[in-house]
Amino acid sequence: MTYDFSGKTAIVTGASRGIGEAIARTLAEDGARVILAARSTEALDAIAASLPNNPAVIAIDLSKPNSAEKAAEAILAVSDTIDILVNNAGVGVSETIEDVTPEKLDFVMDVNVRNLILLTGKLAPALIKSRGNIVNISSVSSFSGGLGQIAYATSKGAVNSFTRNASLDFGRKGVRINAIAPGVIDDGMWKTAFESGVDREQTMKKMRRLLPLEGRWGAAQDVADAVAWLASDKAGYVTGQVIRVDGGMIV
Ligand code: NAP
Repeated sequence: MTYDFSGKTAIVTGASRGIGEAIARTLAEDGARVILAARSTEALDAIAASLPNNPAVIAIDLSKPNSAEKAAEAILAVSDTIDILVNNAGVGVSETIEDVTPEKLDFVMDVNVRNLILLTGKLAPALIKSRGNIVNISSVSSFSGGLGQIAYATSKGAVNSFTRNASLDFGRKGVRINAIAPGVIDDGMWKTAFESGVDREQTMKKMRRLLPLEGRWGAAQDVADAVAWLASDKAGYVTGQVIRVDGGMIV
């Protein structure tokens, strides 16, 4: 156990695989009761079955209208106390400025920004009551842009801006809100890309030149460890920050 989240309830969106799964496992292993949320309930159930502290699973689809309201209702039906909210669920589509469409833009912005903000707002009273904290998952592409990632990189820039602005509202109510901006993580979205045919060795080799810290790709656990620190009392004077967990990636 690194931190002590005993008696705390943590929501992790996008907990069905990748970075979200690692965050859920880390918080649970450090004592939290975790509520795992995503669309794939079978995957969530399988993960929950291996976690301590009576985890709960809820189905949410953050791309749908009113989904933030529905997700908040489902979360509050499972626990009226919320100490930690990790807004990790995220999607990316590849497009250039020439082929971005309203549909692609709406999809990415709905999941990554609109419903992240609305869900946080709906859970704000519970977080204020517990003097809890929030960690949003951004991306290094919010600083650098990502080639062929107009909507994704823009959405993550909005996550950073939301994090900073919400810290002003939340601060005097005793709630901290921060973000982690991961670099290239050898899991999650990249794992899916490699499984669907993107050349793993070539991609890794190309990226390693941008990674000063041993040329090493990140692991989901690197992100989860940073989230756990931010969510813990050890980060009690940290709010409104976007912290890069990227091996010093040159962006
Ligand atoms: P991933 O494997 O694709 O996981 C994304 C998670 O979000 C899944 O649990 C997915 O669950 C959930 N999700 C997707 N669409 C959803 C929707 N409409 N409603 C609710 N949940 C939804 O990706 P990942 O790499 O772990 O990414 C996690 C976060 O890290 C994202 O915010 C991503 O932008 C960020 N990030 C990742 C990297 C990287 O290198 N991997 C780098 C920078 C930032 P379901 O499909 O079951 O709904």
